[in-house]
Amino acid sequence: MGAHFTLPGKVYLVGAGPGSAKLLTLQAMEVLRAADLVLHDDLVCEDVLAAIPAHISVHSVGKRCGMKKNSQEEINQRMIAAARAGQTVVRLKGGDPLIFGRTQEEIAALREANVDFQIIPGVTAATAAAASAQIPLTERNGASKLIFVSNHCCAGKNDLQITRAITEDATLVFYMPGKEFEALQRQLFDAGLSEDLPCLLVSQAARSEQKLIRTTLGNLSLLPSLPAPNLLLIGSTVAEARAEEAVTYSASGAEQKLFAEITLDLPEIRETISDKLTF
Ligand code: SAH
Repeated sequence: MGAHFTLPGKVYLVGAGPGSAKLLTLQAMEVLRAADLVLHDDLVCEDVLAAIPAHISVHSVGKRCGMKKNSQEEINQRMIAAARAGQTVVRLKGGDPLIFGRTQEEIAALREANVDFQIIPGVTAATAAAASAQIPLTERNGASKLIFVSNHCCAGKNDLQITRAITEDATLVFYMPGKEFEALQRQLFDAGLSEDLPCLLVSQAARSEQKLIRTTLGNLSLLPSLPAPNLLLIGSTVAEARAEEAVTYSASGAEQKLFAEITLDLPEIRETISDKLTF
């Protein structure tokens, strides 16, 4: 009777990009086709999941805002067990796995368990949103800094630590911006940013339901809430954001008179904001 040997498996920590399967890298597609097991986050779109061959075992291990369907520890153990059983495991994460993706914990667990792994980067939400808005995130004469900030609302961290890095020559990209922008607006004013600074809320970037709303810091708190996931971009480069799909506000007069300039026919947005308009 011959001995049984199991070849060691491998784990791929893979970026699924922001939505459309067309934004997967060739390398991501290659490992998805070769996988035995795919463990994916809630953020990974149907479009991407549909690109995975039907014979591959695909499981959602999403954790949404404190509702722990699967703990991080369980996910780690599942990846490690499958790799030890000789499987090729793809841990598929929305956007880029190294940006607000809790990948550090997975890397540590895989190292500790001595499991071979590789990281395959993806298109992060910030670049997808900027591409949709047709704006750069940096500019030679305007924006020499690019700051990705997590404004996570679920971890009891309501107070964003405004650092001296936040200045008007920076483009700020808020991941997990929440739905209420009043506190953030106040903090950014406290950090010395001006009320004219352009802001852009991008809902569901690079997906068919994508929506972009432009405003200024002075009117940030008046933004309607749009379906998740949302990204908030703030900075001078946002001034040139594609306007035909944007709603722009401008404040004038001492009593904050508000004008809405709806440049595209977006009835649902018009409805959402109409109760916030005072003329
Ligand atoms: N690793 C991801 C970010 C994970 S944190 C990346 O690189 O993109 C989750 C947050 O990312 C969401 O709350 C949202 O702020 C942002 N996000 C992810 N995909 C998005 C999309 N398609 N459109 C807008 N924001 C998105």
